[in-house]
Amino acid sequence: VLKGTGNGALPPMLEQYVRMRDEVAAQLPHAILLFQVGDFYETFGEDAERTARLLRIALTHKSSKDFSTPMAGIPLRALDNNVERLLLAGVCVAVADQVEEPGSGLVERKVTQLLTPGTVTEERHLSADENYLAAVATGDGYALALLDVSTGEFRCAAFHTRSALYDELSRWRAREVLLAPELSGNPALMADFQTRFPVMLSPANFEEAGCCDELNAVLGEVPGSLTSAALRRACGAVLGYARVTQQGELSMVRRAVRFEPGAHMRLPEAAVRALELFTAQAPGGVTLMDVLSQTRTAGGRRRLRAWLRAPLLDELSIRARLDSVETLTRAADLRNGVRSLLYRAHDLERLSARVATRRATPREVASLARTLELLPEAVRLLEGLDGLLGGVRARLAGLPEVVTRIRAALVDDPPIRAGDGGLIRDGFHAGLDELRNGAVGHRAWLAELEISERARTGIGNLKVGFNNVFGYFLEVTGPHLSKVPSDYRQIATLKDRARFTRPDLREREREIARLEAAAGRLELEVFTELRDSLAAHAEALSEAAGALADLDVLAALAEIAVDCGWTRPQTADGGGAKLIQARHPVVEGATGGKFVPNDAILGAGRTTLLLTGPNMAGKSTYLRTVAICALLHQIGSFVPADGADLPVYDAIHTRIGASDDLAGGRSTFMVEMSELAAILHGVTARSLVILDEVGRGTSTLDGLAIAQAALEHLHATGAHTLFATHYFELTRLEGEHPGLINLHVAAEEDASAHDGRGGLTFYHQVIPGAARQSYGVEVARLAGLPAPVTARAARLLTALNTGSDDGRLTRELAALDLGRLTPMQALELLNSWQRQVVGAEKV
Ligand code: ADP
Repeated sequence: VLKGTGNGALPPMLEQYVRMRDEVAAQLPHAILLFQVGDFYETFGEDAERTARLLRIALTHKSSKDFSTPMAGIPLRALDNNVERLLLAGVCVAVADQVEEPGSGLVERKVTQLLTPGTVTEERHLSADENYLAAVATGDGYALALLDVSTGEFRCAAFHTRSALYDELSRWRAREVLLAPELSGNPALMADFQTRFPVMLSPANFEEAGCCDELNAVLGEVPGSLTSAALRRACGAVLGYARVTQQGELSMVRRAVRFEPGAHMRLPEAAVRALELFTAQAPGGVTLMDVLSQTRTAGGRRRLRAWLRAPLLDELSIRARLDSVETLTRAADLRNGVRSLLYRAHDLERLSARVATRRATPREVASLARTLELLPEAVRLLEGLDGLLGGVRARLAGLPEVVTRIRAALVDDPPIRAGDGGLIRDGFHAGLDELRNGAVGHRAWLAELEISERARTGIGNLKVGFNNVFGYFLEVTGPHLSKVPSDYRQIATLKDRARFTRPDLREREREIARLEAAAGRLELEVFTELRDSLAAHAEALSEAAGALADLDVLAALAEIAVDCGWTRPQTADGGGAKLIQARHPVVEGATGGKFVPNDAILGAGRTTLLLTGPNMAGKSTYLRTVAICALLHQIGSFVPADGADLPVYDAIHTRIGASDDLAGGRSTFMVEMSELAAILHGVTARSLVILDEVGRGTSTLDGLAIAQAALEHLHATGAHTLFATHYFELTRLEGEHPGLINLHVAAEEDASAHDGRGGLTFYHQVIPGAARQSYGVEVARLAGLPAPVTARAARLLTALNTGSDDGRLTRELAALDLGRLTPMQALELLNSWQRQVVGAEKV
């Protein structure tokens, strides 16, 4: 552990450090141990080098005659801040505190906190977002377990394929992942995993028997829903790891919820990325989540993300959400009332978890009371409503009268720490009142003392003071020292004054200290009792927290719908999709009111839309608009359009843009093709498929061939497909495949375009028919390519276009019915073909 040491024996303190670090390493192998030495937390040896690098702090050395080791430390008061930075850097931290007053010998120390990115529960280390610890095991397929220790949410699922697992995992954004040895022992698999999920990977115990013990210990059983060894191992591993970091306390976890990945719309990793649900493609860009983030509470925000992660498949559930959102859009008073109430709520979900684990601070208990006090008002606001809102009301009304209990016991603004005293209200506990009143009598005596002693001694500025070293004292300044009476005993001499005490003062002081200590102990007892009594209601509290979160999301969706003029989508019976004047919510925001809305109609006889048009015309935006409307519909939201009929899609597949995965060692084209492969394998007649510029990453002919083959395959499945392409050769497929329709984005070329000075005007309007050409040269001109270059490109293009007539000649030839051709007609045809070919060569 301590490299660079000499041959001599370690000093006792460092021996203690090495021992504790070994203990920590047995549980969290890569953790850094912060070891309290007086006013600093120190690290030594390799850890010191690591810490100094990560925190950018000075590296020093601890040395003696025959020994030296690197050392880096942070001041005690900077602990939280630095722990946070270490966690963000993906490092686990153990904190060892001095647990006794330093004396002559070695100070006793103890590990008081184990912190890992995925298991922190202290509010100060957490963002308001969810914080998942995940575990993955294999066996018969793959199993995933997810735990948020800050709320107690515990879920698991089984998957047949690795890509299904990846799709799911990408949506939860776990901060820390535990991988079973059969996975972590496979280098190729690990490399793949780490490029997809740049999160902290921690080792854990996945041995099945031990995992079942964990499940028994925490849940009281091995739930029957954990039907495979892989599920039991993933769930047990997560609990075992979390239990270590929570130092045994996992009572916020009450049940394991097994979810069926197939119960929700399939939303592959690529679609989550391409639609920019949670992460923008451009750094600092706006995400769909940003647009939707009108929630007022942290719990609501987490719930909204959960809804976005798992769009519904069940028509009735979609309608239930839409009904509630519609109610809230119509009733402005209700909506505003609910939202202003939510604004005052604290994070009830996390507070319930803190209460369940008996860890809540007095301040947290007060926040809990303040939030619970809002609930009757919420219940009143929701009076008479049915559907989901009625359900929310019922869940909020089910809470026992814990508020009055907390209010009666706790002062309005209690201190953060229970040990500081001053948290229990006067009049709540007779014994406590008695102790406090006793102290009050003594304090009054002290207050009197100053006045009476001034009179007795004639020292006008005599003062009664207090400090931690001497306790209470009488203070007299220099000029008056001669008047000090004989019953004063001097205890301190300062430059210009002296401090005294008296036996009766000492007596009062001891009595006050005794009463205060007793009161402090009693307060702690009363508080602990209160907190324990709340733990009994943890279940009802988390139920209410869930209801508040649902309410918050519904009200937020209503707020956006009203603010942005969205409409309620109708769930289409016939399976067709019809969007009238649809907008892309993010791009619309960025275009400052200049967004051009478009219609999109898909259905029988119209399942594939082939979209052409120049670069930058708005093809990609149009595609995403349709996908986002479909997604919003299935989370139960209104959509950015004037009218919308939408089917329930089983999946949204996307292949958009040339996302670089060069870091992962795969070429852009390879990435594109593997994404395309996943789509073609997974698509059904009920899917929505969005393909943008397929085949761009390879040579023109290869690309065109692949694009056409993929398009034909998709068209045959009957899925709703939107296909944007710069291969306008594909537009001729319209005639060959019924149901494949050409659209293009309107753009106009200036008359003077070909002399090198003209340009394009984009209208962003999607209209029927194929684009005339791909306008690539015009876009190049717009981008400022030198005129001779664009002029040469335009000539070459004409040549190439004519050249590509060879293909047309071949087709014409193939289509000839020779039996019905007269010799004269044959000669005329030959003549015209020859002219075309010769003409092309002359350019
Ligand atoms: P393409 O896919 O055809 O290259 P994009 O969809 O990426 O084009 O759009 C290019 C830019 O044009 C967008 O960033 C946006 O600023 C603007 N744009 C696209 N669609 C619209 C629209 N309907 N209304 C207004 N501006 C639009």
